[in-house]
Amino acid sequence: MARAHNFNAGPAALPLEVLIDAQKELIDFKGTGMSIMEHSHRGKDYEAIHNEAIANIKKLMGLDDSYSVLFLQGGASMQFAMVPMNLLGADKTADYTNSGTWASKAIKEAKLIGKVNIAANCEKDIPTRVPSGNELKLTDGAAYVHVTSNETISGAQWKEFPKTAAPLVADMSSDILSRPLDYTQFGLIYAGAQKNLGPSGLALVVMKKELAERAPANIPTMLKYKTHIDENSLYNTPPTFGIYMLCLVTRWILKMGAENLYKQNRTKAQKIYDVFDSGTFYKGTAIKEYRSDMNITFRLPSEELEEKFIKEASAQGMKGLKGHRAVGGIRASIYNAFPVEGIDALVAFMKEFERKA
Ligand SMILES: *Cc1c(COP(=O)(O)O)cnc(C)c1O
Repeated sequence: MARAHNFNAGPAALPLEVLIDAQKELIDFKGTGMSIMEHSHRGKDYEAIHNEAIANIKKLMGLDDSYSVLFLQGGASMQFAMVPMNLLGADKTADYTNSGTWASKAIKEAKLIGKVNIAANCEKDIPTRVPSGNELKLTDGAAYVHVTSNETISGAQWKEFPKTAAPLVADMSSDILSRPLDYTQFGLIYAGAQKNLGPSGLALVVMKKELAERAPANIPTMLKYKTHIDENSLYNTPPTFGIYMLCLVTRWILKMGAENLYKQNRTKAQKIYDVFDSGTFYKGTAIKEYRSDMNITFRLPSEELEEKFIKEASAQGMKGLKGHRAVGGIRASIYNAFPVEGIDALVAFMKEFERKA
């Protein structure tokens, strides 16, 4: 079996063990004679998976019953709108940090709904970074403060989150469950599943239940967090197969041990950053202290060399290294499931490519 070294930014690599388990159960889920995809979302077989997935997320995040775990659709992009619709209110201001492409998309949606203050802006900074906590200009009595924990395109990541009086809301699409964090510092976390949690088509929202009470009455039912909290994400048919895959991924993290996974992520990223730092051929695009452990972004001395790099890497089974179309360059996305062997292959390739160039 030839598995590619899959550096795609999302949808992204899934753990091989998870794919094998899903394959084993695909046609006959636990002797029921049907796939989990063919089960009713109201039946007890599916319900066990649904509730295990919720319990696993809470366990991994260390959260109690004051938080709800929701499985929604529309990706992280839908959350850009749902967050302000539910939490902002007509007379309040929301503080947003602008750290790049994804943050600015969240800001665009929030502005359609209500008042937004840009608490810090480094969207266009080169080298890339995220704001530092002490540069934020926060609003007194803000409805919430929004951060993008990891900018997937620019490769910059918050290492420490600001302490805020207002609830902290984080788009964690590209680094959720990748590092040890006190998750109780957040009022609401959201993430598209297709980077660190499972397949596309599913968005995870983890929120303090009390925040859902703020929503104005005229929000459409499907867009109201309270609907999904009250119905345990079963108001309508949820993306059952995606939730099943997320359940398997969280089982895989629990089995491996979250701490082991976190250490492995740090080591994986550092191996590539060490190549940048030992010479001048590869130039990281993010400021060192903000370098992401999930999306490693870099440039070569010329665009011709970058094109050659991507082509030759692909021929050696290393796929998805092309930087986002908005910024160019190279991007290695190495989420939780990306195996250490793939990192070693890339590092060896980078050294050899530099030697020959
Ligand atoms: C990928 C990504 C998104 C968009 O996710 P969709 O599920 O495609 O809507 C939003 N924010 C960040 C940080 C991302 O990496």
